[in-house]
Amino acid sequence: METSTEGAAEDCGSDVAPVTETVADGYPAGAQVYPAGADGAVATVEAGEAGEGAATAVVAAARPAIAPASLSPSRASDFMQCPLLYRFRVIDRLPEKPSAAATKGTLVHAVLERLFDAPAAERTAPRAKSLVPGQWDRLRESRPEVVELFEDDPEGERLATWLGEAEQLVERWFSLEDPTRLEPAERELFVEAELDSGLRLRGIIDRVDVAATGEVRIVDYKTGKAPRPEYAEGALFQMKFYALVVWRLKQVIPRRLQLVYLGSGDVLTYDPVRADLERVERKLLALWDAIRQATETGEWRPRPTKLCGWCDHQAHCPEFGGTPPPYPLPVRVADPGSAGGPARGAPAVENSGPREM
Ligand code: SF4
Repeated sequence: METSTEGAAEDCGSDVAPVTETVADGYPAGAQVYPAGADGAVATVEAGEAGEGAATAVVAAARPAIAPASLSPSRASDFMQCPLLYRFRVIDRLPEKPSAAATKGTLVHAVLERLFDAPAAERTAPRAKSLVPGQWDRLRESRPEVVELFEDDPEGERLATWLGEAEQLVERWFSLEDPTRLEPAERELFVEAELDSGLRLRGIIDRVDVAATGEVRIVDYKTGKAPRPEYAEGALFQMKFYALVVWRLKQVIPRRLQLVYLGSGDVLTYDPVRADLERVERKLLALWDAIRQATETGEWRPRPTKLCGWCDHQAHCPEFGGTPPPYPLPVRVADPGSAGGPARGAPAVENSGPREM
């Protein structure tokens, strides 16, 4: 987890955040969906269904309100940061402005993913940097709202600087890992698993490496800086979340969790054991209970922190003199005992939009 908001925003890449990292999570265009079907085929998420790394970019127009149905690392972090922020993002689905830092994270993630399309020997830093302009073009096509980031830059100076920063992050990766010696088993992998309680967990893993011995390594790229040691546990929350999902799906505990911080040139690793993942599961269940209770009672408390400065929803937040949208919402009644369903006792409406949680 990032502790600085700047780094946080840049890490929208995958799903976590100390609450800081991501701003919105969905599925990046082209993301593979896991588990695969019985035939091993994977589904592909269509462009425009939101973008995880893109985070903040889920901006378009506000969509119909829905009750939470599953949990991702980003949204779990949102609730821990500020329950009201969680409500605004997950239930009200209020639009958010794109951010330059988060969009840069999305761009860098796309470049690192695409580089593995090339033969191993050709995965060089110059080639990776050469992918930046093309991936920026693709990003603008799939998420036109990001263009507004540079609307006040008619000469293209800020854009050139921003693209240069993205290239620097890409280049730094080569001092941390050697892609000519890597052959990822999966890239931008969407995972989803249901716990025994019924709670569905989901997220997108940047890279999965599988050794010849069958040992699994989960890798996540961060375009921000590595956290100070005292915040390392928070940073690993997302990775343990993914490890739990993989464990539930494949009955294999990943051998290693690896966070690659491109902003500072650091690599943080952790080798999880069963007790770690069981602890994360208990934590998530407690968190989900709290979310369900808030959904049912409508008590989404604001929790102001210094991160409020990066919140797009101050106009709706009582802490800043704003008024939230009306509540309770017309959400569907949950199945009794279903941790993954909407809140009990809530009125109903079907979720017609793409799922955010
Ligand atoms: S402004 Fe702060 S307290 Fe209000 S919703 Fe946003 S994060 Fe929460």
